[in-house]
Amino acid sequence: MNLNLDVKFNETIQRMIVEQLRSNWTSSDPISDEALVHRSSKTRILGAVGRAAGLPAFPQVRDLVDAEFVAYCDPSVLARGQFVPLRRSSDQILLAVANPWDYSADDYCAGRFPNDELLKIVTLASEVSAVIEGTTNSSGPSRAELEAVEVEEFSGETPDFDVTRLHEEPIAQLVASMVSDAIKQRASDIHIKTEKLSCHYCYRIDGDIGPRMEMPLKLRDRIDAFLLNLMRLAPEERSKRPGISGRFTASYYGRSVGIRYERHRTYRGYHVTMRLLDKTHLEARLGMGTLAFDAETLFELEKAMAVPSGIIVMSGPTGSGKSTTLNAMLRALNRPEDNILTLENPVEDEIPGVTHCDLRDSSEFKPMIASFMRSDPDIIFMGEVRDRESAELAIEAAITGHKVLTTIHTPRASQIIERFQQLGMERWKIAQTLKAACAQRLVKILCTGCREKQAGVSEHEIRMFSLDPKWASQPVYVHNKHGCSECHGRGYAGRTAILEILPISPLMGDLLSKGEITPYELEQQVRRDTGLPSLRDNGIKLLGEGRTDLDALRKVLDLTYKE
Ligand SMILES: [Zn+2]
Repeated sequence: MNLNLDVKFNETIQRMIVEQLRSNWTSSDPISDEALVHRSSKTRILGAVGRAAGLPAFPQVRDLVDAEFVAYCDPSVLARGQFVPLRRSSDQILLAVANPWDYSADDYCAGRFPNDELLKIVTLASEVSAVIEGTTNSSGPSRAELEAVEVEEFSGETPDFDVTRLHEEPIAQLVASMVSDAIKQRASDIHIKTEKLSCHYCYRIDGDIGPRMEMPLKLRDRIDAFLLNLMRLAPEERSKRPGISGRFTASYYGRSVGIRYERHRTYRGYHVTMRLLDKTHLEARLGMGTLAFDAETLFELEKAMAVPSGIIVMSGPTGSGKSTTLNAMLRALNRPEDNILTLENPVEDEIPGVTHCDLRDSSEFKPMIASFMRSDPDIIFMGEVRDRESAELAIEAAITGHKVLTTIHTPRASQIIERFQQLGMERWKIAQTLKAACAQRLVKILCTGCREKQAGVSEHEIRMFSLDPKWASQPVYVHNKHGCSECHGRGYAGRTAILEILPISPLMGDLLSKGEITPYELEQQVRRDTGLPSLRDNGIKLLGEGRTDLDALRKVLDLTYKE
């Protein structure tokens, strides 16, 4: 039997409803159930449903709706269960259901509003849909309708490679443990190299390449084929192309770690570099953990970030943590009222609310930025200024009132200005737009479990690194060459960022654009005026605190030079 209410009732319930209809049927003429239903209006049938369920029946509930409250519920769940919580007043929820014998509404409300009493009423299924549609705030299709659109699951990405479960296939197990060990030891890269008689893999941890793990040479091609297959890259590409790039995602105890793959052909086979993009490192916040800069530097950085338009440039070699700091800055700048666009290669850290774009190759740069500028941005994060074109675009964006964050390859902050000049930019344009020039390094931190105390710095090192003679009798710590179990035998445990910042005030910018001072003089002037520490000052400070040693410092800083 069809009750014509767009709700499915089982036979027992249908009989109860028909009984209710019959008891209210005034004519004494005999009539079949079929005919009785056929001759009853929807409202009359709804009344019967209500009486059968012992609930009040309302053919129309639209006037009872508190739209804001309904919008608080997931429309797809409401549509599926044919119910809608209409409003809430003094711990009571008015709940309209199309099928009073379906308890999904009760379950939903018990989960969402556990402390409220339910006041249930029965209504038509068409009323429930009308309310859900009326409260989803768009003029297009309702959320319920959109949720119902069938989409074939296809992301174009390969499934995650689970590196923490046991794999039956030995090659899969070898690669899984290679990757999971790397993540565990917080390696930044895994290298796989083949030589004449052997092949091996090793990790780069805290900037240093670690010991080799030898593998049987005969596995060389099997490992290669396994990795290419993991990224769905055809193995025949190996012989055709000198370099192959790819990406895959490893699942590490349920956490996703992105891995960027780069393979180039060598005389004896190949060299694979896998960069681990572990997001747990990237969620760093300014002023905390590895980004715990000194108070003055942090203050100047925040001041530069507060300038409405202009360029903030972070410099330093590859692996100096530039993007980690810039991402932390983006997180700090991220507000709903600002439109933030990024252009990266690849996207390393997705920040909710920020529109990330990945650059597939350098030819996309110009059209992408041109399109960016038309999409009404407030803040633009440009992965890197590497050529005339990108330098021009960064400056153009800043001149037209945008905040631009970017990176450049120069050793020192003051050299950023010269680098822009080398790329063909006029100095006045740089002086007008550059708000802060920063340089960053990551310095290895001594393992506190095994660091060794020394009475002072040797005479030789004092001369070599132009240190103050007082260091000869100043106790310092050095790393233990054999390490301990805490630091996996490395003597160091993790790295910290050091930052030098050169804020460009309007006065300094003016002097610079008139050519009255050189970038070097500007740096000297700023240091004298503000007392802001240079990279060297920051490094020496870590040495004095016993947190690092000269070996670690000389690796990332040119200490022989003293300003
Ligand atoms: Zn140790």
